[in-house]
Parts: sequence; C-alpha cells; structure tokens
Amino acid sequence: QFPFGRRLPCDIYWHGVSFHDNNIFSGQVNKFPGMMETVRKITLSRAMRTMQDLFPLEYNFYPRSWILPEELPLFVAEVRVMKDSDPSWKPTFIVKPDGGCQGDGIYLIKDPSDIRLTGSIQSRPAVVQEYICKPLLVDKLKFDIRLYVLLKSLEPLEIYIAKDGLSRFCTEPYQEPTLKNLHQVFMHLTNYSLNIHSENFIHSDSVNTGSKRTFSSILCRLSSRGADVKKLWSDIISLVIKTIIALTPELKVYYQSDIPAGKPGPTCFQILGFDILLMKNLKPMLLEVNANPSMRIEHEQELSPGVFENVPSPVDEEVKVAVIRDTLRLVDPQKKKRKDAHNWIMFPRDSLLRAVGAFCIIWSMKDKQHKHHSLKLSLKLKFYLKLGSCPSLEHVPESSGSLLDAVPAERGPEAGLPSLCLKQVFPKYAKQFNYLRLVDRVAALFIRFLGVKGTTKLGPTGFRTFIRNCKLSNSNFSMAAVDILYIDITRRWNSMGIDHKESGMCLQAFVEAFFCLAQKKYKSLPLHEQVASLLEFCECHLAALAEKRLGWGWG
Ligand code: ADP
Repeated sequence: QFPFGRRLPCDIYWHGVSFHDNNIFSGQVNKFPGMMETVRKITLSRAMRTMQDLFPLEYNFYPRSWILPEELPLFVAEVRVMKDSDPSWKPTFIVKPDGGCQGDGIYLIKDPSDIRLTGSIQSRPAVVQEYICKPLLVDKLKFDIRLYVLLKSLEPLEIYIAKDGLSRFCTEPYQEPTLKNLHQVFMHLTNYSLNIHSENFIHSDSVNTGSKRTFSSILCRLSSRGADVKKLWSDIISLVIKTIIALTPELKVYYQSDIPAGKPGPTCFQILGFDILLMKNLKPMLLEVNANPSMRIEHEQELSPGVFENVPSPVDEEVKVAVIRDTLRLVDPQKKKRKDAHNWIMFPRDSLLRAVGAFCIIWSMKDKQHKHHSLKLSLKLKFYLKLGSCPSLEHVPESSGSLLDAVPAERGPEAGLPSLCLKQVFPKYAKQFNYLRLVDRVAALFIRFLGVKGTTKLGPTGFRTFIRNCKLSNSNFSMAAVDILYIDITRRWNSMGIDHKESGMCLQAFVEAFFCLAQKKYKSLPLHEQVASLLEFCECHLAALAEKRLGWGWG
C-alpha cells in the first residue's frame, strides 16, 4: 500500500475501485479507465440495445430493458402493444436505479402505470427490465451465479473465465410474482447483502450447501439430473464474450483518452464479476456486470448479541483466491519475459527467421556495446516474427489449451501451484465471434477522427472530416445536411445528461449517426449488413487516402 503516493515505478498496480492515476507510465494496472461508467446499468443497457438492434438473436440473453425517464413513453407504448397482441401475457418488470448496487432501491411492478414508477424516476434515473419469472430453482429457491472474468487486454482482445464461480441463494421459497408477493425481497432478489439479514440465511462450511455455494456444486447436481452441462458452459462462455464485445467500443474511447497511443503508459487488465441467472430451461441470462466485484473471503458472525467477528468463508475462499492468484500469474511480468523467450524459439517456423532470431538473441545478450543497434534490430525482428508467427498460432492444437498451459509448470517458479483456474476463451474462440465486432470498427473510426488526444467527444469539424475523407457526401447528402445530422443527434444525446464535462458528439451518438448513414445508403439490407457495408466503404476510402498520402510523402 502507498497511502502517501509512491516514488518508484511498479510492475503491477492494484487499484481499489477504479483507474485513477494518470502518473503511471509503465507496468500494468488492474483497472481499465472508464470501466465503472461503462458497466453502469444504463450504459450497459444502451450498449446491449445497440447489439440487439444489430444481432437480435445473438443478444437475446439480455432481458428487454428501457431507460428511464427518457424512454418511459416508449416503455408504456411497447408494453401496451405486446399485451394487445398477446392478452395471455402477464409480465412483471424490475426497476433498478442507475448506479445502484447490492439490490439497493430495486422493486418489482406489474404494470407501467404503477405509481411507484411514475413517482420515483424523475429523481433517480433507472433501468426497467422484463423480470425473468421462471428461473431455475434448486431446493425450491431462486439463485444467481457470480462468475469471475479476467479482461486481460483490450487490444488485442483477451478474455479468461474462471472455471468456478459462486451461486447465491434467496432465503424464501420462490413463487412466480403476484401482486401479493412482489415486495418479498428474500424471495425475488438473490443479493447476498440482502439475504444475509434473513433468519433463514445459512453460512455453510461446505461448498455445496447453504445460502452461498460454488457454481460447480450446482453443476454437479444438474449433471446428476441429466442436464447438458457442457452446453450450459458453452452458452455461458458465449454470453461473456458477446457482452465484452458490446463493452469494448466504449472502453476503447476511454482508453485512448487516458492512455494515448504512442505515449508511455501502463497496460490494463481487470477482473469483472458477471451476474447470471439461469432460466428453468437452463438458458443463461445476463443480469449485470460488476467492475469492482467483492473479493472478501470472510464474513461476519455474531458471537453473542451485538458482538461480531470476521470468520473465514470456505466457499468464497475456494473461488476467489484462485481468481486472484491466477490473475497475478497471467499478468506476471516475469512470465511475459519467459513467454517471450519461449516464443522466440517456438514461433519462427521459417528457418531464416529462426537463424536471425537466434543470432539476435545472442548478439543482444553478448555485445553490450552495440546495444542501440541490437535494440533496433530486435525491434525489427520482433515485427517479422509477429508476421511470421500469427498464422502458426492458429494451428496450435485445441488440446494444448492456452499458451501458458503449454509451458511446463514444473520448470518455472510456478512449480507446485495448482493448474490455472482461468480459462482463455478469447482469442481462442475468436473465429466464432469476430463477425459481431461491428461497433468496435465504428469506434475505431470515431477514435481516428477525435483529433486532439485526451478527448472522448467528436467536434463538428472532426465529423465533417470523417464524412469528407470517407466520401460520404454527395448531391443527395450535402455538407449542410451533414451539419444538421451532427447537430440533431448530438443535441439529443447531450440533453440526456450523460456527461456534461465535454461538449461534442459522444460515441453512442456517433454510432447512431453511422447507423443512420448506413440505412440511407444501403436501404434494402438488414441493419447489420447495412452497417458492415458502410464500414467496408469507409475503411476502403481511408486506406486509399492513406496510400495516397504515403505516396506524396515519398514523392
Ligand atoms: P444490483 O447491482 O443492485 O445487485 P442486479 O441487477 O444484480 O442489481 O439485481 C439484483 C437482483 O435482482 C439480482 O441478483 C437478481 O436476483 C434479481 N434480478 C435482477 N434483474 C432481474 C431480472 N431481469 N429478472 C429476474 N430477477 C432479476
């Protein structure tokens, strides 16, 4: 701990709540800039909505949600239409205040006209969401799953999932919501922080009983009942990857603002807590993502009335210690050095590269007076190795798992440590999911035209340059129309009061403008094809422009 600041640079910085130190120029920080903001209930719902607009089937693991107060009329209207078309539909909705946690301020309603809703939302923005009425029950109780996910890198995207998680149980037997039981939090909300106050709460000293259990113990039970646990895991992995794909565009905007490319800065990683609810049919549904999941491995016990003591919680310890330990193993700078050394020998299949590689290593180790020259050569070589190694990486057989698994543990300082509990899922399964990364490419365009480093919003000149460089304006779409589009969309997004610190067009507004342009240009296609086509069009024009500029430079 550095309560009064630090003087020496560190390899790993472990921040308590969020990324907050702009004076870090090297090493790795355990938080991404802007993560807290990105996973807030409203921002997450917006990001998921954008993906649901593009890929409705792929993103049906997130309950239908509306943002209040701005979408109250839409919420009322859509529910009315759905009820009219299906009179047997008797929905329940859950209202969650933005920025709330631990079940704070959450309540259930049966109808948009509920007085509680109309009364409270003006003072506190919230998300209202379709309530999942038929959750999977164990011992007649509702429970949710907390899974730990390591976002190891944003660019390139690297995601790991912990092989075990926690299951947090309600403390009253579950009944489908009725007007009579809507307010019974111990029946409907699985939050540990709420249920701990129930007299039915059971602190267990084993991982498969009590009000908090390991997820693996639930899987064992499901498996013994004949459930397809493999499919369930694969659905969960897919949910996690898709959710992170929805979050990365916003994260990249924050990242370039706090840690501009080309300047010295740290790299970031972060442990996220995914809250997932299993439906009766075993479909996993995302409830929320926590940027700062609790890593406590103790709980309070009342020894005698009013006297509390912290005692170890074996279930928390089982899951959380492994997550922290393996996160440190994966980001260990010594490991990176060892891995790099391993890669130098492993990857260059081409014999010429191998020969140059060996030469360069020996040279840079032995010939210290040629350090500068050797550094230049090794940088060049790394570039070649990168080009040479990429295709061969794809051919690493499935069974060898992650690169780290491939390094024999007993040779390094990890001898005696258990095998990694964090399993790499991306880029491992990248091929299946890369087609979903359209908004990521839109964000790359946005960042490119932001201009001055350190900003997160696009000014009118930046937007005009984007239109001009991508050749999007023509006789049907004048530069005056471009300005009107910019003003209309920017004004609306800024009036929602998300971020008043900077003026200009935020990423979500740019995404909306981009979708608008795509719809205009490629009328008859489905939205995701419209957006993909416009992206290709823009990227093509920008590549041509870059080539032309390079030509001028050389000339
Ligand atoms: P918080 O950050 O306050 O914990 P959550 O979104 O996690 O907010 O919701 C709290 C609890 O409410 C969840 O743990 C879950 O038990 C329940 N819950 C949340 N959303 C839904 C939903 N759409 N359907 C059913 N239960 C839900």
